[in-house]
Amino acid sequence: MVMTTHEEKMRTVRFKVDDKPHIVVDPQKCRTCAVKACVFVCPANLFVPLDDGSVLFNYEQCFECGTCYLVCSKEGALTWTYPTGGFGVTFRES
Ligand code: SF4
Ligand code: SF4
Repeated sequence: MVMTTHEEKMRTVRFKVDDKPHIVVDPQKCRTCAVKACVFVCPANLFVPLDDGSVLFNYEQCFECGTCYLVCSKEGALTWTYPTGGFGVTFRES
């Protein structure tokens, strides 16, 4: 069986970043979120918990899997859409 590292997989992924974020997180709502599931489930590690209880989020290297939206338990904390056509992630053959 051929093993592939995370770094090798990432070399097969390209991002065309839109100026407009396709995911918006409201840090005020995150402050009262006890579980912070997004931090643990995002396969790209794009959510970083901060000392004040909020989370730092960067949309640029998002895989568009939708998992953060599914697990977020606070209404209105996370707004999720697909990027504008032509932008976002592209998965290529390795
Ligand atoms: S799960 Fe939702 S409310 Fe909780 S930290 Fe993540 S984005 Fe914020
Ligand atoms: S859609 Fe997937 S990759 Fe993008 S931020 Fe949410 S969990 Fe992470």
